[in-house]
Amino acid sequence: MELAARVAHMRGTGGNGWGILYRARAMIAAGEQVVMLTIGEPDVRTDPAILAAMAQSAANGHTGYTDIPGIPALRAEIAARVTARTGVETRAENVLVTPGGQAALYTAHQVLLDPGHAGLYISPFYPTYPGTIRASGAEARAVEARAEAGFQPAKADILAASAGARTLLINSPNNPTGVIYTPDTIAGIAGACTEADLWLISDEVYETQVWEGPAISPRSLPGMAERTVVLGSLSKSHAMTGSRIGWMVAPEAVIDAAHELAINTTYGVPGFIQDAALFALRRGAGFEAAVAAPFGRRRDIVRDVMAGSPVVGLTHPAGAMYAMLDIRRTGLSGEAFAARLLDEEKIAVMPGESFGAPAAGHLRIALTLEDGALEAALLRLRAFAEALAG
Ligand code: PMP
Repeated sequence: MELAARVAHMRGTGGNGWGILYRARAMIAAGEQVVMLTIGEPDVRTDPAILAAMAQSAANGHTGYTDIPGIPALRAEIAARVTARTGVETRAENVLVTPGGQAALYTAHQVLLDPGHAGLYISPFYPTYPGTIRASGAEARAVEARAEAGFQPAKADILAASAGARTLLINSPNNPTGVIYTPDTIAGIAGACTEADLWLISDEVYETQVWEGPAISPRSLPGMAERTVVLGSLSKSHAMTGSRIGWMVAPEAVIDAAHELAINTTYGVPGFIQDAALFALRRGAGFEAAVAAPFGRRRDIVRDVMAGSPVVGLTHPAGAMYAMLDIRRTGLSGEAFAARLLDEEKIAVMPGESFGAPAAGHLRIALTLEDGALEAALLRLRAFAEALAG
C-alpha cells in the first residue's frame, strides 16, 4: 500500500542539528539534569483569569459547533486591534480565526500557492516554514539574510529569487535571530513585493515582544494592504500556546477562500477557546506588557553576560524571546559546539544550522528560563567558548 507523495514532499530533506534537542530530552528522561535553552515556549502557564473565562464559557454552553471563520465579537476585536496597530482600516470580514498561528501559516500558503509556483521565505527561518510552503505543492525557496547584515534581508536578494514566485513569508520580530526588521528593510520588502508582484505573508506572532522598536507591520505601507496577509497568535502574547488560537488578516477574497478551506479542514475553533481569547485581548496592552516583561529582562541579561567577550558575538536582540550567539571564533560549527556543550556542561541550545545556512556557526538561546538560572547557564557557556578558543 502506498502513501500520497504530498507529505513526503512537505517533509523535504530535514534540517540539521535537531539531534541535540532529541538527545537532551533523552538525557532528561534518563534522570540527568540538563539546562534547556532550546524551545520557544513561555515558561509561565496561561493566566488563571483567562482559564476562568474559558471554563465559564464552556459551562454556559459554548461547546457546540461555532461560527467557522470565528465568532463575530472576536473577529471584530482582532480587526480593531490590527486597525489600531497598523492604521489600516480593517473590518471583521478581513479576519479569520485559526487554531494557532501555525494553522494561519498553513492556510495562507494553501490559498495563495499552487504546484508550479514558488513560495519565498527568509533564512534563517522558523523550522516549519519550508514544509508549510511545500504542503501547497509549491517549491519552498529560501532568500538568505546574512549574519554580516544583522540578518536583515535585502531587497535585491528577494528580487533575484523571485522568478516564478507568488508569495514571500517574513517574520519580524524574528525567530530565531531576535532581530526586528528596520524601516529600511520593511520598505525594501514592500518594494520587492510590488515590483515582483508577490503576496506578502507577514508573521507577526511576536508583535508584543519589542525591546527596541519600531516594529513596523508592512501592511501599513502604501498599497500593501491589498497584497499582505498578517498572521497573529495568542501563543506568545498571552502565554496560550496550548489553546491553539491565532488569526489571519487579509483582503476579503483571501478570507473567503480561507473560510472555504476551514469548512473542509478544522470546521472552526472551539467556542470556549474563542471566548477566552476575546477576554484575553480585552485585558489590553498592560497585560500583554506584563507577559512579555520577563523576556525583555532576560535579553538584557544575555547582553550583559556576553558584553566584552573576545569570543562570543551577539546578534543585536531587538525583539522576540531568543538571542543568537555567534561562536565562529571557537572554530567549531554550531552543531559541534552544541553537542560538546550538552556533553560537557549539560546545557542544551539549538545549533544555528537547524534554522538555515546563514545561521551556521551560531547558537539560538531561548529566553525561557528563570533569570538567575539563565544567567548562570550563560556564564558557563561563555567560559566554555572562551576556553575552546583559547
Ligand atoms: N511563527 C513563528 C515565527 C513561531 O515561532 C511560532 C511558534 N513558535 C509560530 C509561528 C506558531 O505559533 P502558534 O501556532 O503556537 O501560534
